[in-house]
Parts: sequence; structure tokens; C-alpha cells
Amino acid sequence: MKKNILRNASILFLSVFVTSCSNNQESYNSSITSTNSMQYNNTTSFDGTSQNAITNQSTNDNTSIGNVSDELSSFMAFSFFKSEKADDYIEYQSKNPDFTAEEVVTYVNLGLNHDFYTNIEEIENPDSTLVLSNKYRILPKDYEPADLELIPEKYSKSWRDLYLRKEALDAFIKMCDAAKADGMNIYAASAYRSYDYQVTLYNNYVESDGQEEADTYSSRPGHSEHQTGLVIDIRNEDKDYDGFGSTAEYQWILKNAHKYGFVVHYTEEGEWITGFMKEEWHIRYIGIEHAEKVVENNLVLDAYLIQFN
Ligand SMILES: [Zn+2]
Repeated sequence: MKKNILRNASILFLSVFVTSCSNNQESYNSSITSTNSMQYNNTTSFDGTSQNAITNQSTNDNTSIGNVSDELSSFMAFSFFKSEKADDYIEYQSKNPDFTAEEVVTYVNLGLNHDFYTNIEEIENPDSTLVLSNKYRILPKDYEPADLELIPEKYSKSWRDLYLRKEALDAFIKMCDAAKADGMNIYAASAYRSYDYQVTLYNNYVESDGQEEADTYSSRPGHSEHQTGLVIDIRNEDKDYDGFGSTAEYQWILKNAHKYGFVVHYTEEGEWITGFMKEEWHIRYIGIEHAEKVVENNLVLDAYLIQFN
């Protein structure tokens, strides 16, 4: 049941596409030739522009590929189609006949046709503000952002010094100041974490709860988004982590964080995609333009970011 709920939510991002291509399902079975690229070009993207890559279809003329199956053609219509995954798309679609072609390409690109922490790819763009680290993608062990800056004391509540990448820190400070003006007190409880720090943290959790449970709430080393320097675990004056979801500050974050480039990454809807329990306190910087798209369309962040990775 959870999967269905999550799916429905994650599919909101596809709704524009589905609505504007209501004949999509039939097109699998009809002969897709020269009209293929045309039917997708009418797609309206999230913000009404052609900028968005999820709905920004390839304009390649598929007529040149004469022997390709209709089903494969429907996957190839997406700019983020990967030819080396063609067989995987077909297999995943057959196991999930209700998924649209866009869902299939997105989820297979994410790795969801495999178990978590299998078929792991090394991340090649760790410095991108759109980098995606998750249970299928690992950061280089020695990766440390070059532009980490100390979070000033007034924005931090932790037993240790906390660091963020400069762009994320500037945005965080702006957001905290705006929250303060609304009577909200938001602080960082955790931010950048090195690979080695994550080793200690994760091992401690495994020791106390066992690996299966630890994996539902803590990343294995190299897979933690905290290593990107773009993530903050936030808190208010007296509530952190599990307590944060019940605060007025959390409601403020839901309403406003995207205006500063942040999104709450781990939601209940996204659990089946991320493999993590919801974390109201864990916010990720992706920049204002992208954060607004993710929030307005109620997307699971991983499904949005995979197209850039
Ligand atoms: Zn976190």
C-alpha cells in the first residue's frame, strides 16, 4: 500500500506529461515512426518553459531507427534515455506495466530495478549543486568540497563546528534571517560530514540497532548526502531530529525553504525510492530554480535529480 501511495505522489511530476499525452499508452502498441518525436514535443513542462529536463524530450528523429521496438521507442523519447539500459527498461516495464515510459526510464536510471546498495555507480560530478548521492551512487572516499565555510555560531547549535559549501551557507543564512523575522528560530544541528566521520557514525548505529535497521535511517559511508556539503540537519531552540516535525519552524520550512533553494529531501512519499525513513529535519540545497520546481510539483528529489546525473 505504501508503495502505491508513494508512487502516486511521485507521479505528480509526471502528471503534466501524462495529461498532455493521454494517448501515450496506446502509442506503445501502435507503430511509432515519424510522429514519435512530434507527440512528445507538445509536452508542457513544469514551469511552462522548455528548460525542464524531465519533460524536455529529445528532439531526435527516431525515424532513422527502423528496427527498434515500439516500446523502446517510447523510452527513447526522453532526453535522459540511456541506450546501455535499453534491456533494463523493457524488463522493468514488463514487471511494472502500470508505470509510464517516463517513470520506467527515471526509475531504471535511478537503479530501482536493483536492490539498494547494489549496482553502485561512482559519482562523477560531486561539485555540482545538483549532485545525487543515494544508495546506488557513491562519492569518492576522499571527496571534500573545496569551498567549505564555517557556519557562524549564531546559526548553529551543535557540540562541534559545522561547515557548508559557500553557496549553501549564504542561502542558509538568508533563510534563517527570514525565519527569524517571522518569529522562527532555525539552527544547524549537523551539516558537512566527511567520509571518515560517516564511518564512525554509521558503525555506531549498526552496533546499537543492527545493519538492517541502521540502513533505514543512516547512510553507509560514501553514500551520505552530508558529504556533499549541501545538506543541513536543522532544529529549533529545543527540538531536533525526531522532534522537529512537530514544530512551527518545520511548518515554516515546508512553506518557505524552496524560496532559498532548499528542499526537505526524505519524505514518506519518497521512502520506496530513497530507502530512508522520512526526515523532516534534513534539508538539501539545490538552488532556488530547482527547489521551486521540486516543491511546486511535489517531486521525490531523487527522481528529479537523476536526470542531471
Ligand atoms: Zn541529515
